[in-house]
Amino acid sequence: MTDLTTFIAGLPKAELHVHHVGSASPRIVAELAARHPDSKVPTDPEALADYFVFRDFAHFIDIYLSVVDLIRDAEDVRLLTYEIARDMARQNIRYAELTVTPYSSTRRGIPDTAFVEAIEDARKAAEAELGTVLRWCFDIPGEAGPEAAEETARIACELRPEGLVSFGLGGPEIGVPRPQFKPYFDRAIAAGLHSVPHAGETTGPQTIWDALTELRAERIGHGTSSVQDPKLLAHLAEHRIPLEVCPTSNIATRAVATLDEHPLKQMVEAGVLVTINSDDPPMFGTDLTAEYGVAARLLGLDAAGVAALAKNAVEASFLDAEGKARLAAEIDAYTAVAGR
Ligand SMILES: [Zn+2]
Repeated sequence: MTDLTTFIAGLPKAELHVHHVGSASPRIVAELAARHPDSKVPTDPEALADYFVFRDFAHFIDIYLSVVDLIRDAEDVRLLTYEIARDMARQNIRYAELTVTPYSSTRRGIPDTAFVEAIEDARKAAEAELGTVLRWCFDIPGEAGPEAAEETARIACELRPEGLVSFGLGGPEIGVPRPQFKPYFDRAIAAGLHSVPHAGETTGPQTIWDALTELRAERIGHGTSSVQDPKLLAHLAEHRIPLEVCPTSNIATRAVATLDEHPLKQMVEAGVLVTINSDDPPMFGTDLTAEYGVAARLLGLDAAGVAALAKNAVEASFLDAEGKARLAAEIDAYTAVAGR
């Protein structure tokens, strides 16, 4: 049979937890830097590759902010979005719910309508030309507080781009209690969006309970600390509330000390619907294919097991029933040939 790494690379995949700016690969950053020669970011791909080698969390923030600084107009937004889809297509990611933070761009002077047009234009082109289907999660950068929450909810509900399916909450959890964002989630949910906050990545299980009860979370971003609370694990399993697990990110941010200590297996054994994701892949030196490899090792999976994990992401996605059936069938067809 095909070796597992090759199998995973070719496997049709869905990704549910991956950030827009956090997906800027060195190749994309070089293109953006070339558009803005006054920036301090290297434009030479080799120098950039070195610049991107993950050192520690502070270095990640550094890179992240320097990429944010390169997103200055709607054309930058369009280029970034389309090129992310190109990187996804190369990994055979067929469907992705990309977490986008409109506030970071509108705060820097890009008009909201131009921002939304740019991502929608990239989405349509990516689907037509690359075959990768993108959907959006608009997320509140929690550290920016109620002002950012208000702006994010306003853009989501008033402009309501066609590709928008969900409403999220990111940024640091410590010192940023989830319940304060309830009114904004209420508005987004009333407008028909799904609730997908980050919770329990760097704080305990209470944050996850808060996300469920106050923000009516339908999926949990990370949810790493759920394993500290057997009642919570049972609740997640019983109500089929999926976790968006990002193993390498958890090590990079030190939410978990080492991969061997990652609680992925405990989550699976508790019957929780677990999905595998890459979060901010180039900045953490990973991609979705590599994350499935990590999961396969932690869970002791063969090709059929990895395919089942890929189907979890399809089930947990906000695709309609027909879209889910089509992607699941694609995974089955591939596995029947390549997984033997
Ligand atoms: Zn995230």
